[in-house]
Parts: sequence; structure tokens; C-alpha cells
Amino acid sequence: MHPRLQQDLDQFPQILERTRHLAEGFLAGLQQRPVCPPLASQQLQPGDDRLADEGDGALAALDDFWLRYAEGLSASAGPRYFGFVTGGSTPAALAADWLVSTVDQNSQLSHDTVAAAIELATITQLKNLLGLPEVFNGSFVSGATMANFVGMAIGRQWLGQQRGIDVAEQGVTALGPVQVLSANAHSSSVKALSMLGIGRDALKIIDNLPDSEAIDPVALERHLAASIGAPTLVLASAGTVNTVTFDDLPHLLALRERYPFWLHVDAAFGGVAACSPRYAPRLTGWEQADSITVDAHKWLNVPYDSAIQFSRHLALQMQVFQNHSAYLEAPTLRSDNYLHLTPENSRRFRALPLWLALKAYGRSGMQDMVERNVQLAQLLGTALAASEGFRLLAPVNLNVVCFALKNIEGDAVAARDRFIARLDRHGVVRCTPTLYNGQPGIRAALVNWMTQESDIHLALESMQHCLAEPH
Ligand SMILES: *Cc1c(COP(=O)(O)O)cnc(C)c1O
Repeated sequence: MHPRLQQDLDQFPQILERTRHLAEGFLAGLQQRPVCPPLASQQLQPGDDRLADEGDGALAALDDFWLRYAEGLSASAGPRYFGFVTGGSTPAALAADWLVSTVDQNSQLSHDTVAAAIELATITQLKNLLGLPEVFNGSFVSGATMANFVGMAIGRQWLGQQRGIDVAEQGVTALGPVQVLSANAHSSSVKALSMLGIGRDALKIIDNLPDSEAIDPVALERHLAASIGAPTLVLASAGTVNTVTFDDLPHLLALRERYPFWLHVDAAFGGVAACSPRYAPRLTGWEQADSITVDAHKWLNVPYDSAIQFSRHLALQMQVFQNHSAYLEAPTLRSDNYLHLTPENSRRFRALPLWLALKAYGRSGMQDMVERNVQLAQLLGTALAASEGFRLLAPVNLNVVCFALKNIEGDAVAARDRFIARLDRHGVVRCTPTLYNGQPGIRAALVNWMTQESDIHLALESMQHCLAEPH
């Protein structure tokens, strides 16, 4: 064995202890850590792109990394990171994620690990938490982008099947053009269309309802009636990123009866609201969708990267993703045969963090997280609406506050960007820019399990402070 490998094998306990020590320090300082570190500390240090001939061993490499780069890490796992839709990591999920790397299992049916059985049981529990029926199968993928990709890939196969074409065998050209209808498709679905060979141009934007981000079912029906016979995927939103608006799924299901299409529901974070009886009605109808996306690294607060794709078309899914080899488990039709149901071949034991989090906190813990985030988003929204310097761009529907600067003279985009840059430099709260109804806006998305009322006050103080600074 190479002497450095032998040394590290002998020092395994010290290496783990050192890692634990660094992690403990990071977590202890998370509340004070800037949400956006200075740009200079986000840069690579000179020489660090050079491959070493002789390594330093794990302890020295760890210390060197931490010394040089700890300052360049954001408090994105902390309670005041409201940018994008960024979940944190509960203690149980973090502990599990450490173990995932430690035990290093390949989560498939290989008959030498319990990993696939636990993945299946995690999916079962998640369906129970979210009120999804047994008929759905599900599997872990790396994020909502891949869950959208898988959902639409099965949809593409279904469209072929309706026409006597096996797209998995014959290719997407045998099917011909597909139309994809959506009012607010997430950009990741547009990327998925490119990856699927359906093409970004296939997306036809359907009008929203007035003053809403929800799809206008009348406009959708008009389009469907004018394109009868065209292979059609409908991408519904169950929680848009700006205003957490939910499409009227029962209405879409009624249309599906008359104009057969594949209904994919992107519920990346909005779907998690179904664990609360208060918000579950917003998802009514999703239990009849063909495929569904739910992210785990957002509102379920497990570490990156993790999401779940659900579908009720196991056989079609296996047609798309099956993988034949003499040395692999055969593609028999069972919902834990993940090698044949997901884009990956080898797969991380990605289910364990959610499994452990559900064990540790149960239904009521998840419900608390969701309801607390919503209540705090409402508190933030109310305070901003009552303030001198800010106004809401939309009502706070759930856990996202979409707002703008008030009384801006001149270029509103530039003023907004300057404000966000000051907020980043101040480091207390992270918000990210958006465009809503043609207006430059700012988003605050609350999805972290740690966030408390005191964080909202700190965030508001920072916002006021950054507003007051000379423009
Ligand atoms: C975040 C998000 C995605 C993309 O998710 P990733 O996990 O970043 O791949 C897709 N759809 C919606 C609605 C999202 O909020």
C-alpha cells in the first residue's frame, strides 16, 4: 500500500475526529456566518489547481482546505438564507448523510445490502406523509431537475405507446414533434426538454389567470381543442417560485378526460405543504397526476443532492430506463428495481437522510417545519407591506415573500440589484432577484427548519439598514 494510504488507514479515527471537530465549529458558528462571504474569499487560492505528485495525507489536506476555504463557504444551511429555494439539513438528516458516505452502499437490488429496501420504505412513508396513494412508485434522484426529466421521459414513452411507437427503442424521431403546455414551467423543465430530445421549442406558454401565476384552464382548453391529436405533455405547477401558486389540478384532470395528455406536476417544494392539513387542499388532484416531482433538499431539509420522482406508470418507466447486462439484476417489474427505473446506474444511498429524518421527527415534526415557515413568511410579508421602503408584489400565499423597493426613481432593476448587493455584503439575510408581472422583484423563500421569529426581526433590520445606505 502507498505509505500515505497506509498512514491514513492507521489514522482513520483521528481523521474522523478532526472532521467532526471542523463540522462542530462550522455548525456552532452558522448563525453568525455571513450568508454571502466576501467575493475575495470565494476565489481559488494560487496553486490550488495544481495536482500534487506526493500527497500530504488526509489530516494535512483537511486542515489546509479548512484554513484556506472555510471563509468562502456561505451560511446557506442557516436560518436566514432566503435565496432561491434553499433547505438546510436537520441533525438527523446530516448524521445520516455522514453515514451514507461512510457505508458507501450502491442502492440497487444487488442482494448484498438493505439499501434498496430502505429506499422503498422511505418512499412508502413519504407517500403517507404527503397523502399520495399506494399506486405511485417513486425513487430518489439528484434533484427536481432530474425528477422532472424522469417524469417527462416516462410521459414521452406513454405518448409513443398511445400511437404504437416504442420511443425507448425507436427514438424520439419516430414519435415526431411533441407539444409541451405550461403557464409557468420551471427553467429546469425547459432544460429537461433539451436533454430529452423533445426540444426547448416544444414548450408553448399558456396564459396565466389575471393577477395570478396559475394557468388559465380556458386558454389551455382552447389550445388543446385546436391541436387535437398532437402528442401533448402538460406541465403543471404545484408551487411557483415567485408566489407559490398552485395550478387548478382538478380542472386540468377534467381536461385530461377530454383531451388525453400526460400530466406532470412539478411540486418541487410546494408538494411538501401536503404534510399540513391546513395546506394539503392546495394539492387536491395531484394524486391523479401521471408523474410528480418533489425535492428533498428544499423543504424536506436533507443535504444536497436529493429529490424524489413519483409515477404511476412502472412498466413504462422500466421501458425507458432498463439496463441489460449479464452481471446485473434483471429488469423485473418491481418498484425497488432502481437500476432500471432511474437515469443512474450506480446510485448513492440517498434515501437514508430522509428515512432517518422521518424516524427522528415524524409527521408532526415535518408539519411544524412547514407551518412555522409559512407563518414566518406571513410575518415578514406583513412587516414589509407596512414599511416605508418596501411593498409586496403579490400576497404571501405560502412560504415565499415576493416584494420590491418602494419610491424608486430611475432604473428600478439597477436599484434592486444595488440593494441586493448591499444585503449580500451585510451578510445577515440572503434574498435573490426575480421578475414578477414585468416588475423587478426580490424573493425571500423560507424553507429552513431552524428559522425562528428572531431571524425575521434580524432580516428586517438588515433590510432597513441596507435601504438606508446611500444609493
Ligand atoms: C428548485 C426547483 C426545481 C429544480 O430543482 P433542483 O433540485 O435545483 O434540480 C424545479 N422546479 C421547481 C418548482 C423548483 O422550485
